[in-house]
Amino acid sequence: MRIEILTLFPETVRTYLSESVIGRGIKNGAVEINCTNIRDYSTNKHRKVDDSPFGGGYGMVMSCQPLVDCCRDVTSKLEGSVRRIYMSPQGSVFTQKKAKELLQYDNLVLICGHYEGVDERAILLCADEELSVGDYVLTGGELPALIVSDCISRLLPGVLKAPECSEDESLENGLLEYPQYTRPRVFEGMEVPEVLLSGHEANIKKWRYEQSLERTKRKRPDLLESERNK
Ligand code: SAM
Repeated sequence: MRIEILTLFPETVRTYLSESVIGRGIKNGAVEINCTNIRDYSTNKHRKVDDSPFGGGYGMVMSCQPLVDCCRDVTSKLEGSVRRIYMSPQGSVFTQKKAKELLQYDNLVLICGHYEGVDERAILLCADEELSVGDYVLTGGELPALIVSDCISRLLPGVLKAPECSEDESLENGLLEYPQYTRPRVFEGMEVPEVLLSGHEANIKKWRYEQSLERTKRKRPDLLESERNK
């Protein structure tokens, strides 16, 4: 999987990607993530990438030319299937299920808006779909693009040290994950549940499932409801 992030702030994005699990995944070739500066495509002599909105209003809008040229150039160099996604609070909300669906593509192009947003014509020309990371508005699409890249990368073989890590995690099967514990056995008077120390695999599995069910009912009953309605 190759992910191309189109942004006005490539350094912000690169800094995050160079660290930890995703950084290691990139280094070992399990995922390729590149950032392209949209500003490099501006034909304006001052490298301008935005302008004031027609019809009036506050703020600046990202212009068509730099973004459309950037998107076309980056996309033309990709081999295999490509999905172009504009990160937007107006998109459908990104979920674990959506992350899995996107694994079918060889390439993802994630477009980050900024300022008051992007000229509508550029969105029409460049995006196959819009994705939101939640019902709130951020200053730019960089954090959303990182969220999508991070979530998808950890599903790719070779990114997590143990691929099973992602298999019984929260939301994988419509349930939240069971509680986790590590050493010491007692911390400030609180003990690790006895069953986890028993070494009895079947009992541990049963206990974990019951815990998952109980905490999903308590913390996210909406998840059980949507599973029921499937
Ligand atoms: N004026 C726009 C609107 O009301 O729909 C919001 C623009 S927002 C301030 C600037 C950029 O941040 C957007 O173009 C988008 O790329 C990104 N963004 C903001 N919130 C987002 C969210 N919840 N999910 C994904 N991208 C978001």
